[in-house]
Amino acid sequence: MNIHLVTGGAGFLGSHLIDWLMEAGEEVICLDNYFTGRKCNIERWISHPRFELIRHDVTEPIKLEVDRIWHLACPASPIHYQTNPVKTAKTSFLGTYNMLGLARRVGARLLLASTSEVYGDPEIHPQPESYRGCVNPIGVRSCYDEGKRIAETLCFDYKRMNGLDIRIARIFNTYGPRMLIDDGRVVSNFIVQALRGEPLTLYGDGGQTRSFCYVSDLVEGLIKLMNGEQSGPVNLGNPDEFTIRRLAELVRSRIDPSLELIYKPLPEDDPRQRCPRIDTAQQALGWQPTVSLEQGLGATIDSFRSVLNLEMRSGA
Ligand code: NAD
Ligand code: UDP
Repeated sequence: MNIHLVTGGAGFLGSHLIDWLMEAGEEVICLDNYFTGRKCNIERWISHPRFELIRHDVTEPIKLEVDRIWHLACPASPIHYQTNPVKTAKTSFLGTYNMLGLARRVGARLLLASTSEVYGDPEIHPQPESYRGCVNPIGVRSCYDEGKRIAETLCFDYKRMNGLDIRIARIFNTYGPRMLIDDGRVVSNFIVQALRGEPLTLYGDGGQTRSFCYVSDLVEGLIKLMNGEQSGPVNLGNPDEFTIRRLAELVRSRIDPSLELIYKPLPEDDPRQRCPRIDTAQQALGWQPTVSLEQGLGATIDSFRSVLNLEMRSGA
């Protein structure tokens, strides 16, 4: 049995990954500073003998004995990573540096949760891993995009210099239960707005595209990447591409077709299109998503409905 360290384990993706590992009988250490993560996401494991919880900030070094490091700690939503952009850049650089140092000391394999944002506002569509991206180094998204790019660089330099066993997942937009209701990302925004009977806010003309992967598919991809032989980078995402307007229409049709769509300014440097090429994941990992947006939205809407009902009952 391996000891797994999941940084950012109290967050959206980290907590689903922890569920998978715990259910597989593994030993898990969850490390988080609770910036965007919540204890309730991992509450069910808190007194379990194979589970430990550590409040820690990855920008500080830590000594632990572990076999596998899943390095997810970093805010993922633009409103959160732009709250303190210098801290975001520090989390990406110093956090990854510290986790690589730990991996080197104990001989652990490390998987970095990188992002499709390393492609920036792409001129090549859909994006293969070989595409080097079109990133603005001085824009409001740079703390995150460039932060993840240097994190990838660090992983490869540790691999080349120290023979470190690394894996890089370039994760495309992923959604599902446990996203924060005030997360600011588009799927959670639209669902929460629709459940509250509010207009759905489209930024720009809504013609920009994204490809949405359901969280269970993504976790399966991460597991296959960690257990496989490829360092990557490997794109993990759903290649079904949707305009944001189409997403709004889908959410609205599931909850209340009479809701209004309203238009707000497009945020700076918002990528026009994004869709993964997943040939590498298909061929090297035998992975591809299986949950359609229609199916995944159903499960996500149900979970948000329970969260909002609970909030209403508690008067929050
Ligand atoms: P999230 O915000 O829900 O989770 C991030 C977690 O990291 C939170 O629990 C937060 O408290 C923790 N954290 C942040 N800074 C920290 C620090 N300095 N020290 C310790 N813990 C810290 O986001 P998520 O969607 O679960 O994303 C997880 C990872 O996956 C991130 O690295 C993100 O960049 C990457 N990713 C996610 C998506 C997506 O669509 N969800 C897409 C691309 C990449
Ligand atoms: N978006 C939107 N309305 C919202 C939130 C987001 O139209 O309420 C748009 C946003 O401008 C972007 C897309 O939806 O074009 C995806 O945004 P998100 O923040 O979810 O992810 P990212 O831009 O990081 O891919």
